[in-house]
Amino acid sequence: MTDPAALLETLVGIPSVSGSEQALADHLSGLLAGWGFQVRRRGANLHFELGGEGPRLLLLGHLDTVPPCEGWSGDPLKPWWAHDRLFGLGANDAKGCVAALVLAALALRGKAFGARALFAFTCAEETGGSGIRELLPELGPLDAAVVAEPTGLTVCTAQRGILLLQCRARGEAAHVAHAHLGENAVHKAARDIARLDALRFEPHLLLGETRAQVITVQGGQARNQVPDLCEFMVDVRSTPNLDHAALTARITAELESEVTVFSDRYRPVATDPREAIVRAALAAAGTQGGTGSATASDWACLGPVPAVKAGPGDTYRSHRPDEWLSLGELRAGAAFYEKLVLTYARMASRENQHG
Ligand SMILES: [Zn+2]
Repeated sequence: MTDPAALLETLVGIPSVSGSEQALADHLSGLLAGWGFQVRRRGANLHFELGGEGPRLLLLGHLDTVPPCEGWSGDPLKPWWAHDRLFGLGANDAKGCVAALVLAALALRGKAFGARALFAFTCAEETGGSGIRELLPELGPLDAAVVAEPTGLTVCTAQRGILLLQCRARGEAAHVAHAHLGENAVHKAARDIARLDALRFEPHLLLGETRAQVITVQGGQARNQVPDLCEFMVDVRSTPNLDHAALTARITAELESEVTVFSDRYRPVATDPREAIVRAALAAAGTQGGTGSATASDWACLGPVPAVKAGPGDTYRSHRPDEWLSLGELRAGAAFYEKLVLTYARMASRENQHG
């Protein structure tokens, strides 16, 4: 049986910033093949299956990381231990989750259970999800999915989406000394930005309230000219009760500026708590109710498949210096995924029998 600490250190020790995941995918494929798994590759994505006949459960982790940021107390690409914590880029997001899934697969190997567990590790999760989009057709039909991300092993049953709106305030240029001849586009944008700041939307039960955030503003060209154009970008982290088309229509109606959709690929998602995957995940975690997750993930690419997001680690450690995962968290994560698969298989097959 493989050593969890060594596995985690190996995965974190192979750099895999989005776009450069090949070396890690190659190495992990080699390890898995050495343990007897039938690994399939699609570029820097890989997957393998376990178990018998029954519902098809996807266990999805990502191999890529964001680029290293400033402020690390050591080399983020050369992992180091401090007591039982491994520090390094991706230790928390989300190589700890990948290691936990691999350990769970090793524990499940040779056990009989009435489900098909599809383990998939993707590239490019941090840069738009092209990896899972590429892999999804190859995985076949899915009955449920677990998205492995650091949630402290709480079970997230809802996830925010991302709606990006490009706004353009148009005015009329004039000499600043004759401002009454023009129309100041920056002033118009400022009125709209104040309106956006005051906008309130219906809160979501698990995810809470949603506020439109202006993230960039550009306007004005010369010190002596009334600006005729001001552009600003609005980011709305949407919730499943707020449809993107309705949100766009509402904001368009509020603003003087022109509004166009820049991106709405990340739809908000939620899973009915009565779904077997939710009940199995809650049972495996030993908790009562699901929670919401503010961060986007590959879950947004899975369509209507009932899914939860859960894994070892802490979302607040992600994309920051000195990211770490403890050995205790890794072991608990592996045990959680193993129990989840067995519980889901039992629940889903029992429900199939009862029709
Ligand atoms: Zn992640």
